[in-house]
Amino acid sequence: MKRIVFPLVVVALVSGCAGAAPNDGPTTTRLAADDPAPSTTSVTATSPRAPATTVTATTVAPSTTTTAASVPTTTQPPVAVTAPGTYDDQELVIHLQLRSEVPDVTSHDFASTALSILNDPAGWSQSGFTFAANESSDLVVVLADGPRVDALCLPLETFGKVSCQNGAVVALNADRWRGGARDWDSTVEAYRVYLVNHEVGHLIGLRHPASRCPEGARTSAAMEPQTGILQSCAGNGVPLPWEIEWASNRPAVVGPGPEWDGPRPSWP
Ligand SMILES: [Zn+2]
Repeated sequence: MKRIVFPLVVVALVSGCAGAAPNDGPTTTRLAADDPAPSTTSVTATSPRAPATTVTATTVAPSTTTTAASVPTTTQPPVAVTAPGTYDDQELVIHLQLRSEVPDVTSHDFASTALSILNDPAGWSQSGFTFAANESSDLVVVLADGPRVDALCLPLETFGKVSCQNGAVVALNADRWRGGARDWDSTVEAYRVYLVNHEVGHLIGLRHPASRCPEGARTSAAMEPQTGILQSCAGNGVPLPWEIEWASNRPAVVGPGPEWDGPRPSWP
């Protein structure tokens, strides 16, 4: 797989919003995800990468089989990932437990929408990821009300307003799912695309870009916080080409914790 080496931006301190990140901040207290200021936890750039705990990587059979036993296989089969861990640049199937804990959205509808976003040909699938529903997976994407999201995100602060990725858990704020964000400039469906791709982007190891959408650019990066403020760019949840390359490079771990200090590419 083609590898692109992005510059590693060294930061002395990272906010709790980097890596395992609360997605954007409240509009009043602080713009958590937009705010590069350190929060209660700080990680030095020289800190060793937190080792991935476990990898439950069960090799699964290829989706197609050949009856010609003499045909050599040059590609490796996909690897099913069901728990936090590390991965290489093989094609990956990320198994997710997808559920809704709010009464107005069924788990079936939530899972269907989320999977459709995640497996869209324009999304992270271009980076070699496939996402599958699996009720027994340790990797969980849950739609919940603010207090529940707050509890799931600790020690990250989500203020009852925003969403996060925290280790094996992605917790999406149901109010954002229902109505988008105050400054969002498109449809609620487009906001859901952003919400899912952004937070699951964190789950597959992507942090916020090191720089914000440059002046004059027209489209935000999917991994850019967009709930609190859109800068000068249009809201967007579809990964940009350089984000696809970034994810293709497998820069990180699956389900990183708040201490994750992986690379953060700048806007090209
Ligand atoms: Zn984020």
